[in-house]
Amino acid sequence: MTITRRNFLRSGVGGTAAVAACATLAPAPAEARDNHPIPENALGLLYDATLCIGCKACMSGCKDANNLPPENNVGEKLWDTPLELSGYTYNVIKIYQNGTMENKDKAENGFAHIKRSCLHCGDPSCVSACPVSAMTKDPNTGIVGYNKDACIGCRYCVAACPFGVPQFQYDTPTPQIAKCQLCKHRLAEGKIPACAGQCPTGATIFGTYTALSAEIDRRKAMTPGQPALFPRRTPDSGDTHEKAAAEYVDQVYGQKEVGGTQVRYLSGVPFDKLALPVGLPERSYAATSETMQHTLYGGLMLPGVALAGLVAAAWRGSKDHHDDDDQHGGHSHG
Ligand code: SF4
Ligand code: SF4
Ligand code: SF4
Repeated sequence: MTITRRNFLRSGVGGTAAVAACATLAPAPAEARDNHPIPENALGLLYDATLCIGCKACMSGCKDANNLPPENNVGEKLWDTPLELSGYTYNVIKIYQNGTMENKDKAENGFAHIKRSCLHCGDPSCVSACPVSAMTKDPNTGIVGYNKDACIGCRYCVAACPFGVPQFQYDTPTPQIAKCQLCKHRLAEGKIPACAGQCPTGATIFGTYTALSAEIDRRKAMTPGQPALFPRRTPDSGDTHEKAAAEYVDQVYGQKEVGGTQVRYLSGVPFDKLALPVGLPERSYAATSETMQHTLYGGLMLPGVALAGLVAAAWRGSKDHHDDDDQHGGHSHG
């Protein structure tokens, strides 16, 4: 997947074109805004696919912590088997598989796991798109939270997220948007997010953005194949899991994508094979679209028209994302 139609459209350019005629009515000088930076005290997760054994303890922990009902996909209702994020699943582990699947964390004849949940973007498009501030980014922790009482159900956040994270509950007369909020209710009780708390191998750990950055650097400096210690739960827990160091691809997913995210990923398999969009710009879509709106309407933008353009662009981008996914050689599924 490359920067093509999808990313162009997500940037709001395509959607803005839909209202281009309006631009001539009230042109104003551009006031470009930069990406909002990751907050100094930001919290986040590190998911290291090379440590993940696919046990899905993080998924059941997430359901427990957030009072989410089981979802059954295999006929008999014996197991909670969500295959993707949904209105009742905030966190899902998927698997990439190719050929004989002999090699863990290798693209050829291999397999790898991937965690899907909110990335808690530094400059989130879901927050930018929400017309009533039901989606908010905590200025201190950077956690992207959701207020169901403020939400009007417009689903602009669903359309605007480049990672396909927010999910709408279509099957209830009182729907909400569903997405990970980094277990902020548990943080308030002095606990850590349930997924990190349940993970037996240290594949998912929780910490400050700074501490996770140091752990990322430590892991990337390891010699592949040599025995290494990996902390469980948090970088400084002192409780470690021993395993041979892996060979990582030369990318930390979330380090730069759309301005950086507070949930970051390490992997031995290229990220385009793990159902994550690659080739995203370093400039956040929120910065791009808000700059365009300001340009078009000189700070007195026509919110309905501008948002309609953004959402139209994002929906078309979403369709392209799926089209692109369909063209991959390997595949990921739950
Ligand atoms: S991943 Fe999507 S839902 Fe999560 S903060 Fe970013 S834009 Fe919002
Ligand atoms: S932080 Fe909490 S809500 Fe988010 S994926 Fe982990 S367990 Fe689920
Ligand atoms: S709990 Fe840890 S090892 Fe198990 S599936 Fe989740 S991330 Fe992977």
